[in-house]
Amino acid sequence: MKNNQLSVRGPHFTKKYNDFKVYKNMIVYRIWFSVLLILISSNVISQSNCILPIDAFQSYSKKELLSSSCNNENSNTNPDYTNKYKKTETYVPDINTPIKHIKICINVFTGPGTIQNTTDIIANLNQMVAWSNDFYTHIVAASYPIAGVIPLTDTKIRFDLDDRIYFYNGTNLYNNTRIASLQEYVARIDVTRLDNLNIYLTAGTSSPYAIAPFPITIINSNYSNAGSLYGDVGLFMHVDGTNGINYTHSQTLAHELGHCLDLFHTYNPSCCHETCDNADPEYLEDVFGPSPPSYCWEYGRWGCTITPGQNTCTNNAMGGNNLINYFFSPHQIGKMHRALSIKTTRRYVRNDAYKSIPLNITSNETWNFDIRLYSNIVIKTGVTLTMKCNVIMPILGKVIVEQGGGN
Ligand SMILES: [Zn+2]
Repeated sequence: MKNNQLSVRGPHFTKKYNDFKVYKNMIVYRIWFSVLLILISSNVISQSNCILPIDAFQSYSKKELLSSSCNNENSNTNPDYTNKYKKTETYVPDINTPIKHIKICINVFTGPGTIQNTTDIIANLNQMVAWSNDFYTHIVAASYPIAGVIPLTDTKIRFDLDDRIYFYNGTNLYNNTRIASLQEYVARIDVTRLDNLNIYLTAGTSSPYAIAPFPITIINSNYSNAGSLYGDVGLFMHVDGTNGINYTHSQTLAHELGHCLDLFHTYNPSCCHETCDNADPEYLEDVFGPSPPSYCWEYGRWGCTITPGQNTCTNNAMGGNNLINYFFSPHQIGKMHRALSIKTTRRYVRNDAYKSIPLNITSNETWNFDIRLYSNIVIKTGVTLTMKCNVIMPILGKVIVEQGGGN
């Protein structure tokens, strides 16, 4: 349903053990960060400015290919997946959860009516990202609180720009709104920019002011759900030279980045909103309540008036309102962190995210899905963990097998 869907905002705007050591009663394995790079043959696009053939950058994006025996989709009925690793609850951060820094990159296509490469604009773009980070750092209380829900104050997610602002002059893309076209151009200039979650800014207005695709589960070998971005995640935003960059852009950016982290809308009408079926495992009970209200999705829109305790217009970050601060529910935050483990957005997380509290495996489990972890794994005595797919570990991550445990 959600694969390849786009969310729109507007109208305003193997286990491969390289070495191991024996410590007393335990064996410590070290899994190095593994990257699959599989080259796919394809046609070479002939353009005068072509630096890389298209198959090269498509393959670059497809480095997280899923083998046929692995399944990160909803169709995976393995109880270890459906009851634990696919559940948003599993990923709700706690005090020990490290901040996950997502590397982003801003690409500005300049031309008539666009912002230009000036010191002021670069400062404004940095400010825009800083404001967006504020939304993820300082969460306010819900205007429509659900009884029993303990809110979080920090998403533990940040967006790192690190001076990755690039201007592209003299192209006909300055009023283009199609992410795939913009991405393709950037990839040919420097394919390593696809190591970041790319933000594309143009003066294009033929489509809404901002748009972002949802992440997909790790790419299937047949690419059936890879979409035109070949598994990458990015977003488009309209900017123009008349209005420049302002606070509104940071509000929109924070919302769109939510989509990139797998969040849907909490309002209707909408192209793509969260489920209101409370029997659906994806139902956000801490947003809508144990049972959905008479109308589930809010009528929220840009500039709507919030009535505390009512769901007509709320301060939820995915409700479409324009506020100084937003609310993200714990399950929404868990959903974003889930995307950073089992969906494509995970590829942009900086390598230093490491949680000192290990993932303890206390009963037999089989992992027939790809997952990126941010802690060690401890396999308890008498327990077997069967890994059938890639497990991406922190740089210094370890799998610790207690005596009598196995994998
Ligand atoms: Zn949206």
